[in-house]
Amino acid sequence: MAQKYPTELISLIAYLKKLPGVGSRTAERFAFEFLKWPHDQLSALGTILEGIQEKIPPCKTCGCLTDAGECRFCNLILRDPLQLCVIASSRDVFAIEETASYKGLYHVVEHLLSPLDGRHAQHLRLDRIEERIDQHKINEVILAFDSTLEGDTTALYLKSHLQKKNLTVSRLAFGLPVGSSLEYIDSGTLTRSLKGRQTF
Ligand SMILES: [Zn+2]
Repeated sequence: MAQKYPTELISLIAYLKKLPGVGSRTAERFAFEFLKWPHDQLSALGTILEGIQEKIPPCKTCGCLTDAGECRFCNLILRDPLQLCVIASSRDVFAIEETASYKGLYHVVEHLLSPLDGRHAQHLRLDRIEERIDQHKINEVILAFDSTLEGDTTALYLKSHLQKKNLTVSRLAFGLPVGSSLEYIDSGTLTRSLKGRQTF
């Protein structure tokens, strides 16, 4: 049977399907949309994709993405060097910054613990976290991980190793989403909300 599309188009669709949430139909729609773009825009997109990893490298100190040589999240004039927020992805820093509620330092571990997927404790590079704690006299480490089995496992591991240092280890609170109604909350969320209740 003849193939549905020309080979190059099939190849483009296959790449687009690698994006999260993009299925075959959506990938096909995107691919045909690209064919309508003017050549200069396609060329500009290609150039951006080509050099994106070199132009926004992870900061050697904290792992956050940086485009200015010096990482703005490691700038001690702008940041409070007594708190360290540990995150699993360089993307998470932007969500936390958007809240304007945190001014401390960051540390990206890149992978949460997941022994079944081959991600073990050595991949967390605990020594680098401890180095930063000692360097800045950090008095609180905030673990800002997903509310998943991997997030829980990683948080417990780090807590057990970091609490011997003279600092507070905290984790983001789990509970009711803002503006939500109790009747629509799943029992797992409600359980964690009850356990994490605060004096009011
Ligand atoms: Zn940095």
